[in-house]
Amino acid sequence: MMTNGKPKVVVLGGNFAGLASTQKIREYAGDAVDITVIDRNPYLLFIPNIPGEVFENRDPAASLRMDTYKAWQEARVDFIQGEVRGINPDTRVVEFTSREREGSAYETTPYDYLVVAFGCRLAYDRIPGFAEHGHTVSDTYYGNKLRRTLFDGGYKGGPIAVGSARFHQGTAVKDLVPMADAACEGPPIEIMMSMATWLKNRGFGGPDKITVFTPGRLIAEDAGEKIVNALLGIASKMGFHYRNNVGDIVEVTAEGVRFANGDGLEAELKILLPDWVPHTFMMGLPVCDEEGFVVTDMLMRNPKYPEVLACGDAAAVTVPKLGAIGHQESEIVGKQIALDLGRVSAEFAAEPLKPLVYCIGDMGDKQAFYIRSNSWFGGDTQILKMGRVPYLLKMQYKDLFFRTQGKVPPWGLDAAQFLAERLFAA
Ligand SMILES: Cc1cc2nc3c(=O)[nH]c(=O)nc-3n(C[C@H](O)[C@H](O)[C@H](O)COP(=O)(O)OP(=O)(O)OC[C@H]3O[C@@H](n4cnc5c(N)ncnc54)[C@H](O)[C@@H]3O)c2cc1C
Repeated sequence: MMTNGKPKVVVLGGNFAGLASTQKIREYAGDAVDITVIDRNPYLLFIPNIPGEVFENRDPAASLRMDTYKAWQEARVDFIQGEVRGINPDTRVVEFTSREREGSAYETTPYDYLVVAFGCRLAYDRIPGFAEHGHTVSDTYYGNKLRRTLFDGGYKGGPIAVGSARFHQGTAVKDLVPMADAACEGPPIEIMMSMATWLKNRGFGGPDKITVFTPGRLIAEDAGEKIVNALLGIASKMGFHYRNNVGDIVEVTAEGVRFANGDGLEAELKILLPDWVPHTFMMGLPVCDEEGFVVTDMLMRNPKYPEVLACGDAAAVTVPKLGAIGHQESEIVGKQIALDLGRVSAEFAAEPLKPLVYCIGDMGDKQAFYIRSNSWFGGDTQILKMGRVPYLLKMQYKDLFFRTQGKVPPWGLDAAQFLAERLFAA
């Protein structure tokens, strides 16, 4: 399908992976392609900073939404504020409806290249009792709900449970990335640390009120055993409680959480992360694994449909589900499409994904932890730092991201790494 004689790239999703891959395609392929982006929202939500805003009693919707209009203009993109309804890899079309008004008719748009970057459903609807008794921080609605509970007197000082539901990973890429029991366990660690600071500052006690749990053998296993054991050692000295191997969350009630291993936890406040589940219409597509994640090789291409690429949480090889890994993948997507169009050399586009866990988690009181690790993927890097510098970096990274409309210059990340690891080693 060519418009103006140019191949058409359709990018599904316009948050971290969708924006970054679009910018990289434009950077490397130049004017050789037309690009259409479809996202239901005309803004990017800076999800990793939501917990920090909630525990500081700031509305995350006010500070963490970046209007994407300028970014799409700059990337010379046809942006559709639409709901993607389906994909047909055989006829190479995407089905969608416009989101601007209710009642829009179903439409289709063809593609030559498809970039699937629309993340996952965060499946709170699969946790019985969550709506009535659960809390979380993964979007502005839930973040504000927890914020009101904490700051408007809803919390009475009882025990607190923090943890994740079990992740259901597909097996199609099991030779490329390890199998995980939880999708993303940086957030539970960040929440438990920030919650303890909040309790202390409000005169409610401290870490011994909090139990952090994991469905798997080791919480945040993907950060590397050395790092997690160091973190658990610190947490245990501080007085936190820890439960592992609990399996899935079976139910949340007013009294606590019940787990698949038959165990349970009493808790007044239950702050949970759910299963990361692909969008319902992905199930059964020939480009997906048995769970609905898009199967790719480490160059982010589907083996059967090489014109279909994926990056970010929607891709099967993105484990754990981290924006930082999606960022690395977006770069590869840009290079692969440019390679097909003869805009870059095979050598330039040859570097496959070498996943790196890169995570800065808020701890409250302007402190944070910093993790950079690839040991879970067979590498030898495991770096953990804690203190004020990682916190400043987390804040500055977001500011830089907004100021550059997501085009964080490489020196932004490199400088962050340098500062966190060398100059201010904690
Ligand atoms: C509390 C929390 C803290 C986190 N902290 C970190 C961290 O410190 N570091 C880190 O690297 N990662 C972190 N993560 C993970 C990170 O947020 C995700 O990995 C990242 O957002 C994935 O980016 P994405 O673009 O693939 O998907 P998303 O950010 O989920 O974006 C998907 C986009 O697609 C759109 N979309 C979805 N479905 C449709 C549809 N059917 N039609 C149209 N549009 C659609 C959505 O509107 C959205 O814009 C955290 C996650 C949580 C929940």
